[in-house]
Amino acid sequence: MNNSIYKYTFENLEKELLDLGLSKFISKQIFDWIYKKNVKSFDEMANISKKNIEILKNHFYFDDLLEEKKEIDKDDETTKFLFQLNDGNKIESVIMKFDYGYSACISSQIGCNMGCKFCASGKIKKIRNLEINEMVLQILKIKEYLSKENKKLSSFVVMGIGEPFDNFDNLIDFLKIAIDRKAIEIGSRHITVSTSGLANKIKKWADLQLQINLAISLHAPNDEVRSKLMPINNAFNIKELFNSLEYYWSKNNRRITIEYLLIDKINDQIEHAKKLVSLLKNKLCYVNLIPYNPVFENKYKRSTNIKNFYDYLNKNNITCTIRQERGKNISAACGQLRAKEKE
Ligand code: SAH
Ligand code: SF4
Repeated sequence: MNNSIYKYTFENLEKELLDLGLSKFISKQIFDWIYKKNVKSFDEMANISKKNIEILKNHFYFDDLLEEKKEIDKDDETTKFLFQLNDGNKIESVIMKFDYGYSACISSQIGCNMGCKFCASGKIKKIRNLEINEMVLQILKIKEYLSKENKKLSSFVVMGIGEPFDNFDNLIDFLKIAIDRKAIEIGSRHITVSTSGLANKIKKWADLQLQINLAISLHAPNDEVRSKLMPINNAFNIKELFNSLEYYWSKNNRRITIEYLLIDKINDQIEHAKKLVSLLKNKLCYVNLIPYNPVFENKYKRSTNIKNFYDYLNKNNITCTIRQERGKNISAACGQLRAKEKE
């Protein structure tokens, strides 16, 4: 068996090394070389014996993402990468500059099967899940790019192409590597995973009791509007979604982000705000209002009622923010990322 070295959590690598008849302590050395010293071959691992290096080389390989394109918007406020994967498929990842530092937006699948009507990422049906190493490598490539300019990655969101909870097991191992002090070492509280609302997976996530932030793409306060925008609502309606959130809160004392996209005349009227208030009253959450970003395939328009909607929620004691816009000039804004099939 020959596997990417970047797909292993620390514990899984220990196990694999034991199976190969090696000491599990080599796991610490390998993690140190690849995640702290950024080494890209076993030959450079000076504290591992030649004999063991040969064994490692026979069982693991170092892979990479090919940076096919990089676009920079407004100085370095937003940078978008098009990466080619080993099988020729392509995905996009983004770096955003905030007051507190740099944040990355990571993709979890090639395409997306959820079919939300407003989103460009779902215009290609899911081709396949991203492997653990392909998510790890998005972070490593971005860190490498930033470090060349003496900049540091302080946080990331899994809000790029794909539905992360439709790639659950790989997502969890990727996140374990991301938060591990011995590996990428980004604090759990600086990571957010966004889901379109797979209620069964939200329960699984709740059981893990992670400190990682959870964001839910709600986008409508009732089933009628939500089902029109998001086919996933036919599988898990708002009641089932909120049952899973109640379960989450029973296991985790953590605030959930409710994402609410504002689309002209579809979900942005005061009647919708009213319904939203009653849905979220006394719940441990806050609302992040997202101005709709145009996607050329559909007819939706950005809401002109954002300020009123925001004021109504605030007046009714629902904590809420309006998402800062970025990357529109290079199609790197929320919902504008695309996967590309191999040519
Ligand atoms: N699949 C996950 C994560 C990726 S999408 C999810 O849906 O939550 C990240 C966020 O961008 C989601 O809240 C999504 O609804 C939103 N989004 C999608 N299309 C958009 C658009 N055209 N304009 C603004 N936000 C959009
Ligand atoms: Fe998929 Fe999220 Fe886009 Fe919906 S919004 S199609 S779940 S990426």
